[in-house]
Amino acid sequence: MTTVDRPRVVILGGGFGGLSAARALAPVAVDVTLIDRHNYHLFQPLLYQVATAALAPNTIAAPIRAILRAQHNATVLMETVTGIDAAGRAVLIGEQRVAYDFLIVATGAHHSYFGHDEWEKFAPGIKTVFDALAICQQILSAFEAGSLRRSV
Ligand SMILES: Cc1cc2nc3c(=O)[nH]c(=O)nc-3n(C[C@H](O)[C@H](O)[C@H](O)COP(=O)(O)OP(=O)(O)OC[C@H]3O[C@@H](n4cnc5c(N)ncnc54)[C@H](O)[C@@H]3O)c2cc1C
Repeated sequence: MTTVDRPRVVILGGGFGGLSAARALAPVAVDVTLIDRHNYHLFQPLLYQVATAALAPNTIAAPIRAILRAQHNATVLMETVTGIDAAGRAVLIGEQRVAYDFLIVATGAHHSYFGHDEWEKFAPGIKTVFDALAICQQILSAFEAGSLRRSV
């Protein structure tokens, strides 16, 4: 629910940071719009368990709309933010603009190979469900190949 009189708070990112900010604003007279490129919140500390086949991906991801369902001043958009027009106070999603009065940027971090991106293929990052599933596939394939070698 939005009103024309209330300040518009736009939050970029539905990770721990963005969700905490959105929840903290629940009792405040503002309109919150949370934008994330995914429509789910990912509990990153359990990515290792998905990578080692101990957990299924859906057990560590939850829809952001379900998490904020009871929060009447919050709206969730699944979009990839492409830029910020700070002077014009708008978030850019391609050609589209989402206007804000206050902006909270909580888009997380990316792993670094300290100038050696060629190392990535030997030590891939694990920040997304897709990264975890790729590593899981590699581990299981290695075990399968090993057991084939032992039995022939
Ligand atoms: C494998 C792993 C294990 C971890 N284990 C622990 C642990 O045991 N204990 C601990 O305290 N911490 C742990 N962490 C760290 C913790 O998960 C992070 O510090 C935390 O998730 C950071 O939260 P965040 O909100 O800053 O960013 P994130 O959780 O990364 O959220 C950022 C969000 O922004 C969105 N986003 C990014 N760019 C855009 C864009 N352009 N447009 C739209 N949306 C965008 C992303 O989709 C994402 O949902 C671990 C991290 C990993 C990867």
